[in-house]
Amino acid sequence: MSQASVYIHIPFCASKCRYCAFNSYAGLDHLHEAYTAALQREMALCAQTLGRQEVSTVYLGGGTPTVVDVELLARLLESCQEQFDVDDDAEISVEANPGTVDAAYLAALRALGVNRLSIGAQSFADQKLALLGRLHTAAETEETYYLARKAGFRNINLDLIYSLPTQTLDEWKADISAAMALDPDHLSLYSLSVEEGTPLARMISSGELARPDPDLAAEMYTWAEGALADAGYDHYELSNWARSNRECQHNLSYWRNAPYLGFGAGAHSHFAGCRYHNVTRPEEYVALIDRGESCVAGSEEIDAETGMSETMIMGLRLLNGVCRNEFEERFHRPLVDVYGEQLGELVDLGLLDVNAKSVGLTPRGRLLGNEVFERFLPG
Ligand code: SF4
Repeated sequence: MSQASVYIHIPFCASKCRYCAFNSYAGLDHLHEAYTAALQREMALCAQTLGRQEVSTVYLGGGTPTVVDVELLARLLESCQEQFDVDDDAEISVEANPGTVDAAYLAALRALGVNRLSIGAQSFADQKLALLGRLHTAAETEETYYLARKAGFRNINLDLIYSLPTQTLDEWKADISAAMALDPDHLSLYSLSVEEGTPLARMISSGELARPDPDLAAEMYTWAEGALADAGYDHYELSNWARSNRECQHNLSYWRNAPYLGFGAGAHSHFAGCRYHNVTRPEEYVALIDRGESCVAGSEEIDAETGMSETMIMGLRLLNGVCRNEFEERFHRPLVDVYGEQLGELVDLGLLDVNAKSVGLTPRGRLLGNEVFERFLPG
């Protein structure tokens, strides 16, 4: 029996942030109960079809899982335990937005076995939070963080976004300092991606807001790398830093191109050589499950070439790179034979480092990751 990770998508939010292109919706509170029941049913159907899988990580993401009554999250975690063999020491994560949880909610999550909390801080400058359309203040982020510690969370991540319109390097340094003052176990730092169709993209194309400068973004990233190394964080993935043994096990399974089962509207799965994804709209998802029909919107068999390509593109995001032995064990071909040409060119450009054990990005390659990844796309 193979080990899998489980992702449960909660697509509900209190309001839609200006930059957000995720599959999330405000104003669907009436659907919480029915959606939870549909998720429970989808998990049961999956276990009937694939058998009772061994599960090492469970991740409730969104959206904002914590806008849903904690009793509904309890039902989901119970179903997950019923349908799968969840390891006793499994990492069980929930994403939470500041201001959506109180002490009782956090205590209830702990009692359910949730042992990792990922808080969407995004910035510690109230003006930037307002610009992003976030509903919370920096003080609420700090309050949520301290409440989580009090509730017994020993593994807390803070998400931050940099390269915001009008953000200066000094403002970013202040954000990092404010985050580090809380001493989180894990930090995820994402460069703002201006997604087409979002209010933020419209504000930028109309000239109301300045377009973020990629050179300044690189400077912010490099500065954060230094500051977090000085503070003792291990930089283990392009956008992720952790204290010792606090790497996100769930996300590591994605970067290692390991199997995962996704449940809910728009959720993706990768299992037994196949990738598939569900319909995006929560209403349609619930209706299909209610009628006993499949909620899968598309699927793709992963052939060897695609599997190798995905393993490289995901694995190169890890600072340890892609392990040559593991690659060969999995695909029965040496990595340097499959990608000899690409490796030669990228090493010459100073973007990749190839040693006896692994292939990984150089510091320069970390700034130009996308240029490296596209060289590994299937031909
Ligand atoms: S809270 Fe997260 S998922 Fe919800 S709208 Fe904001 S960015 Fe999107």
